[in-house]
Amino acid sequence: MNHRTTKKMKNKFTILILISALALGALSAIQAYLVNNTYVLKKRAFLNEVDDLVSEIDNEQILDSLYFETWGNDLADHIADYKNGRIDQKEVTQRTMAKADSLNSSYMSYYNAFLDSLQLEYTIKYHKNLESVLIFDGNTFDSILSSTSDSPIKLFGEEFDEKEAVSLSSSRWYGERDYITTVNDSVVTESYDMEVKTQDKIIITNWRRVVLRRMSGLLIGSILLFLFVIALLYYSIKNLITQKKIAEVKTDFINNITHELKTPLATLGIATKSLRNEAIKSSPSAFDTTLGIVERQNNRLQKLIDQVLTNSLSAEEIQLSKEQIVDNTFFSELIADFKLSTQHSDLTIHNKVHVPEILLRIDRFHFTTALLNILENAIKYGKDHTEITIYTAVKHGNYIIHISDNGIGISPKDQKVIFDKFYRVSDGNVHDVKGLGLGLYFTHQIITAHKGTITTESELNKGTTFIIKLPV
Ligand code: ADP
Repeated sequence: MNHRTTKKMKNKFTILILISALALGALSAIQAYLVNNTYVLKKRAFLNEVDDLVSEIDNEQILDSLYFETWGNDLADHIADYKNGRIDQKEVTQRTMAKADSLNSSYMSYYNAFLDSLQLEYTIKYHKNLESVLIFDGNTFDSILSSTSDSPIKLFGEEFDEKEAVSLSSSRWYGERDYITTVNDSVVTESYDMEVKTQDKIIITNWRRVVLRRMSGLLIGSILLFLFVIALLYYSIKNLITQKKIAEVKTDFINNITHELKTPLATLGIATKSLRNEAIKSSPSAFDTTLGIVERQNNRLQKLIDQVLTNSLSAEEIQLSKEQIVDNTFFSELIADFKLSTQHSDLTIHNKVHVPEILLRIDRFHFTTALLNILENAIKYGKDHTEITIYTAVKHGNYIIHISDNGIGISPKDQKVIFDKFYRVSDGNVHDVKGLGLGLYFTHQIITAHKGTITTESELNKGTTFIIKLPV
């Protein structure tokens, strides 16, 4: 694949991923907004519901009479004393509060009994604050008592810090009261209007949990939907990348095979032309040499085609014909043959095969191919002076083969994929070296067919070790 198209594709992907991320971001923002709106509404509905409940309890007759009659009448008495000048405003407040205190425990026991009978899924702490007491005698308003939000006056209920509390709707109570007083030494009955303003405050423990539980369906639904969209997006993008990789691998393969076929064909072309040359025709040795070239190029083409054909087999399709093989002999022969076939002049192979010898049950032909692929790579991706070490051992019922070289090494990223079909390391000057990216793939397939494993350890510029484990 050429550079420009790859770059274009990469840009396309980046844009695609960016747009998806933006869309996902927008979607989650909208979702969050909607969920938050629902939360606010649900909370309001819940508080309204609690408000109704509390005012219902407030209206229970027994509580009503404790508040309006017992406490209210007491307040009216104190106001009468105040009107007659017997006590001052402060005293009214003190006595009124003392009365409320004395009534509180019975008020609360009734209150809690009502609350218990409702069997709510949350607990409520309640108190009633006195906001103001205002009287009007036909001419003037007199504020007997008033509280501020900083220092509320608690009438009935439990003590608690109001910071966290919910204020329910305040209630007003109007009444006309009479009192006896003396005007110019004669006893008369006067009347006044009284307005008492109270407000209920409650603390609902766990109210958030209650509200959240009520919207759990929506929450779970939106989380699932969100996860589903992310999964879908992830899957699609991953799929796209895989498709793109496959396309790249195919193009690479076609480029590689074209390149591989071109060289022997060109050589064949030159060789056949030379065969027509009279000078060569007349010299038997030159004729032989040229024929040798034709033969070798022909073999090379044959090998190439065989490689493509056999390598399309998967591990399950490889037919193994296993035989008993003595490891020492097998490796000695392999090394000798390999040295003979390779034209590399500066090659040392260290044979460190396990002694005493061991009998292996392997397919000689396929196993040889597998190891030759590794040995050939050691030269292809090696330095001028190539050193290969073959070491074997038996460990935990496995026959272990290490083949190490002193070559250019493989980066950790590439180590993961070199056994993939058609994979070739694409950076550096590696592409000067011919190949189809099939060698290690086939080696892997053969080792797998033998129920073994193959792994690699490598350091760039130091060398590579292939480790094969075969069950014995
Ligand atoms: P090919 O050699 O035809 O490219 P292989 O499947 O044999 O394909 O190898 C895959 C890739 O692994 C090679 O392209 C090369 O980059 C890398 N590789 C294989 N063996 C070695 C090695 N001994 N040292 C460094 N790189 C190697």
